[in-house]
Amino acid sequence: MSLRLVANWKLNGSIKFIKLWSQQFLENFNGDNFNSIGIAPSSLHLSLTKDLLLEHEINIGVQNIDGEQSGARTGEISASMVKDLGGVFSIIGHSERRVLFHESVKSISSKLAQANLNNIVPILCIGESIEENKANITQEVLEGQITDALKDHTDLSSLIIAYEPIWAIGTGVIPDPKDINSVHEMIKDVVQSRFPKTGLESVLYGGSVNKSNASDIFEQKNIDGALIGGASLDGKDFALIANIFNKLKV
Ligand code: PEP
Repeated sequence: MSLRLVANWKLNGSIKFIKLWSQQFLENFNGDNFNSIGIAPSSLHLSLTKDLLLEHEINIGVQNIDGEQSGARTGEISASMVKDLGGVFSIIGHSERRVLFHESVKSISSKLAQANLNNIVPILCIGESIEENKANITQEVLEGQITDALKDHTDLSSLIIAYEPIWAIGTGVIPDPKDINSVHEMIKDVVQSRFPKTGLESVLYGGSVNKSNASDIFEQKNIDGALIGGASLDGKDFALIANIFNKLKV
């Protein structure tokens, strides 16, 4: 099974945190499908996280890559560097990066190209704002984001899309799971009809997923998994969510 449950640790973590997290996760996870789990620690902690979880073959990735292979780009990390350290995926175009770091459509497209070139699985984040949701233009917004990101890459070998309504991230509020399901169905239709050569592996949902709402979310047919921020910072909670996922999806 491909990557289905991804922890986004954002700007959190330390050596002590990662050691404790790994221990708590391994004590509480009761499945053996480690290969469907991904962790995106800070890039500085990639190797440590990988080493601590090495024997379990959990996928380690990053939260962002640069859109260039190399060059005078102080502070950036390339897809080839991620590959070099054994990382296998990168989150791309997270709304926090789009908003706080002014990531443009063009740079998201370049990042997808770099990921593809270096065999790093891109997890492309898309999602509407609360204003767009209230104006009932979610579908147009998402179609636009998908087209902007994919129009120069009709044949990405693998792609994961994370649908993350901006208003659900870190707020404790989630859309009705049935609505998420319909949005995911639409995303799959758009990618398959307009970009048929794209290897779309799965569509994950992200935004305030936790151990209490995970069953309602994973019960939906078109929700293939989740990208999890806040609740992924606790190794036990993340394991409990993964156990719920396994009961409903595996
Ligand atoms: C995220 O930022 O990708 C995310 C899903 O965060 P949270 O789970 O905290 O809403």
